Amino acid sequence: MDTPDGSTEHDQPLVCASCGASPPPGQEAAARLSWSRGSERGRTTWTCDRCSRANLRSIEGKLDPAWW
Ligand SMILES: [Zn+2]
Repeated sequence: MDTPDGSTEHDQPLVCASCGASPPPGQEAAARLSWSRGSERGRTTWTCDRCSRANLRSIEGKLDPAWW
């Protein structure tokens, strides 16, 4: 087996945690740049660019008003 960068992280399939969408073959590299990356219980999660924009509102809504 030949793993150029030796990263196990890149072995994970890119799937949107919100809508379950995945980038078409050949588009994963671009998606990793445009999608939002997060972590949940030590696992890397991805959110597609569409859901990221939709989530911005809900994320802002969850912030404690006093924080501002
Ligand atoms: Zn999505």
